[in-house]
Amino acid sequence: MQALLDQVGMRLVAHVGSLGDQPASDVADAAKLARALVRPAPEAPGDIDALLSLLFDRVIPKSYNAAGPGYLAYVPGGGLFVSALAQLIAAGVNRYTGLWGPAPLMVQLETNVVRWFCDLVGYPATAMGVLCSGGSLANFSAVVVARRARLGDAFQNGVLYCSDQAHHSVAKAALLAGFAERQVRHVTSDACQRLPVARLRERVQADRAAGQQPFLVVASAGTTNTGAVDDLAALAEMCAQERLWLHVDAAYGGFFMLTERGCARLQGLERADSISLDPHKGLFLPFGTGCLLVRDGVLLRRAHAVQADYLPAPADVDEFVDFADLGPELSRPSRGLAVWLPIELYGWAAFRRALDEKLDLAAQAAEALRAVPAIELVAEPQLSIVAFRLRTPTLDAAAADNANRAWLARVNARGRVFLSGTMLNGRFVLRLCVLSFRTHAERVLQAIEDLRATLPEATQS
Ligand SMILES: *Cc1c(COP(=O)(O)O)cnc(C)c1O
Repeated sequence: MQALLDQVGMRLVAHVGSLGDQPASDVADAAKLARALVRPAPEAPGDIDALLSLLFDRVIPKSYNAAGPGYLAYVPGGGLFVSALAQLIAAGVNRYTGLWGPAPLMVQLETNVVRWFCDLVGYPATAMGVLCSGGSLANFSAVVVARRARLGDAFQNGVLYCSDQAHHSVAKAALLAGFAERQVRHVTSDACQRLPVARLRERVQADRAAGQQPFLVVASAGTTNTGAVDDLAALAEMCAQERLWLHVDAAYGGFFMLTERGCARLQGLERADSISLDPHKGLFLPFGTGCLLVRDGVLLRRAHAVQADYLPAPADVDEFVDFADLGPELSRPSRGLAVWLPIELYGWAAFRRALDEKLDLAAQAAEALRAVPAIELVAEPQLSIVAFRLRTPTLDAAAADNANRAWLARVNARGRVFLSGTMLNGRFVLRLCVLSFRTHAERVLQAIEDLRATLPEATQS
């Protein structure tokens, strides 16, 4: 075991130590190389050194460097090394945390983490939550809780609402929770990509007048496209008046609550009935940790608890929890340690500083881009995403989109940063999302340099 740990440790430390020097992405010839890996399961044992070489020299480098400082695409996180070590410990000791009885103190550490998150969003002592695999699963369970709490068993006429900027996992959650596509309303967002409260209320009232049962609004606290934050306070007010469940998808934006600016932008979050968070984004954990919080925790348990004769005696629910009663899983990884160790080790202050830095960096990137005449900002950062495109007054929509796609490809081909694009109001735009704890000012400057250096020749400034 010690020898294996040493071998793996050497490789891993060398890899993580050189993340900043590795290309921001390299997936050239991916299909060919992937096909070359196909082989039947071996009957005979393999050689650990050869297998680690295969992994670290051939397999891992062929990827987007999602852990590196140049990853400014989609929603980064980075993957704290200490959290990876906590995952190793959790898997190494392999305790059973689906229920309280088999590992009550491990469960308590995870319960502490959930309580810290509840405190962060301003939830009362009656709130409960559960760590799951990611934001998608958190959104799924949220829809199930809202359905059970507000519609009961007959939900054929139930209608749920989100903006056209909501993450696609919301529509997927609705489908998985038993709703047909016709029961999901995507309300057109406003000029700042926010859910327009007045328009939403009209839709709700019209649906109700037509015999439907509006029951749930899913708001975004940081959309994936542009980081737009819906007016949570106004939505909470409206949902209270219309007797709707308010779920806030804060998978990307939630942990900005650690910062003053985040608290101001997410004002009203504490009034939501439920909240999705993604520690593998805003807390920089390795992939595999999401979280659902429910303000009235009893409703979370009521939506998920099912008993069985062969299980250990249930926990005393007034004081402790069986996580299996709060989500779809029974056997599960002990997710709490991966959150608990970094927070205990570094303290909230370190996360607060890192997230404040990301807000600053996005604002600086927006300012630098605004100063380039050939570039048009299409979404100012509300959190740490800025969306922009080329000014193309002489091109039609299709040609402009192509020019922007080609520009994105040229930037990414330089290998220092990796950006992604999206569609906004039917047009292709580039977006830069700063969230990794490994991304600092120097790398954002490189992004700006590379964006300028790869402008179409006619527009170079
Ligand atoms: C990332 C994201 C999700 C999905 O979370 P996963 O962890 O990828 O499952 C949902 N909503 C928003 C706003 C996100 O940014």
